[in-house]
Amino acid sequence: MAQDISGKCMCGAVTYRAQLIEPELGACHCSMCRRWTGGVFLALSVLPDAMTFEGEAHIQLFQSSPWAERGFCKNCGSSLFYRVTAAGKEQGIYHIGAGTMNDLDGITLSQQLFIDQKPDGYSFCETTADLTQEQVEAMFANLGTA
Ligand SMILES: [Zn+2]
Ligand SMILES: [Zn+2]
Repeated sequence: MAQDISGKCMCGAVTYRAQLIEPELGACHCSMCRRWTGGVFLALSVLPDAMTFEGEAHIQLFQSSPWAERGFCKNCGSSLFYRVTAAGKEQGIYHIGAGTMNDLDGITLSQQLFIDQKPDGYSFCETTADLTQEQVEAMFANLGTA
């Protein structure tokens, strides 16, 4: 079920409108997301043509791996999105940082990635589909993006 959302970075230089593929959050516990966000990256998926930015000139892209990039606000540093750049089914899909959304009501946590990299000291209580690093890599290999 598609759902219209809007959001912005902390300083407001970048705003966006988008349509979610599903009103579901994925959490990523990998060490890159941990450093990038300062915590856990909670993200929602948006197809490339369902994403509209204003203030796009304020977005800095960082190539975080050979297959993906991350976008953040040049001014305030807010983590805006993760996106696969490599060819394949995942290419171009935005994984919007959930914390930048204006309204998170009705959005539920459904999946956790890199669960084997989650630090021992915290965990989510929701029932989720959890993938280890090995399972995530296998999934991306099947999508032709590894
Ligand atoms: Zn900003
Ligand atoms: Zn990650």
